[in-house]
Amino acid sequence: MSRVYNFSAGPSMLPEEVLKKAAAEMLDYEGSGQSVMEMSHRSKVYDSIIKGAEALLRELMNIPDNYKVLFLQGGASTQFAAIPLNFMNGSGKADYVLTGQWAKKAFAEAQKYGDVKAVASSADKTFSYIPKLDKSTFTPDADYFYICMNNTIYGTVYHELPDTGNVPLIADISSCFLSEPLDVTKFGMVYGGAQKNVAPAGLTICIIREDLLGHARDITPTMLNYQIHADNNSLYNTPPCYTIYICKLVLEWLKENGGLEAMQARNIKKAKLLYDFLDNSKMFRGTVVPEDRSLMNVPFVTDSDELNAKFVKEAQDAGLVNLKGHRTVGGMRASIYNAMPYAGVQALVDFMAKFEKENA
Ligand SMILES: *Cc1c(COP(=O)(O)O)cnc(C)c1O
Repeated sequence: MSRVYNFSAGPSMLPEEVLKKAAAEMLDYEGSGQSVMEMSHRSKVYDSIIKGAEALLRELMNIPDNYKVLFLQGGASTQFAAIPLNFMNGSGKADYVLTGQWAKKAFAEAQKYGDVKAVASSADKTFSYIPKLDKSTFTPDADYFYICMNNTIYGTVYHELPDTGNVPLIADISSCFLSEPLDVTKFGMVYGGAQKNVAPAGLTICIIREDLLGHARDITPTMLNYQIHADNNSLYNTPPCYTIYICKLVLEWLKENGGLEAMQARNIKKAKLLYDFLDNSKMFRGTVVPEDRSLMNVPFVTDSDELNAKFVKEAQDAGLVNLKGHRTVGGMRASIYNAMPYAGVQALVDFMAKFEKENA
């Protein structure tokens, strides 16, 4: 068996230890005589899996008791509609910052439901930076203020959160979930699809301050009503059982490996290796302004589309896969989530140095 280093933006690498454990437990989970795939979601044995996952997430992220943790389906994209339906219930207004495709999609969806304002955008420079925010432009009576924290496609991240006063801050953290400590109390809600950094596809985790629940619009579909899922401990209907189980294994792995502080230190070290190489290369360069660079997604280019394509192809042949940039931006992108080992980034940098020499 030979495994590649997978730089995909999502679904993406999972820790090898987790995959091995899941394989070992595939036919008989802890003496139950069944695979987790086959279990009733209402069984006692499954209850310990979903409750265990929630407890671990609360511990690792230091989630206060007045926040609900929901395990849902539909991907991050479904929350783009659920958020206005659940929270745009006072003034009917909300502020959005446009930092890329995911923020734009969330914004477009919210426009169907109310008076939505784009307070800032970095579209003028292909979303290669996080715009400076001017508080005087914020809507004082907005029902919420929305950001996409880590911009998966463009490789930017907020290092400083907007000061929204009493207006709840809502953040899509899909691609930076569990990559470093996060002060949940600064937010009304954070959420993300699990397939970037937490689990396989199929699970979306929402962490919501309790006082924001219970005010969904009457037209809100039952399945999009966060209160319904909170009241039923994410078991209103069948949850993505197996994905939640893998999520629990990933959370155990995170805990065994020192938690989010240790993960942050590892991620900084990995990203530094790649950014330092890009800053010193004569062929490759990063596309994001240095102060807004993401630890998780690193887009880069050469000056030639032909060389970019040659690089992606030869890298793939060398076991470094999924380095092609998003179809809307071109070039290359290395996603280096928690499960990507330092050795994987080292292999990439070594390959880039060799490629640069051969094609100079
Ligand atoms: C991948 C991604 C999404 C879309 O997630 P789905 O689960 O496919 O709907 C949304 N936001 C961000 C930041 C992402 O990285």
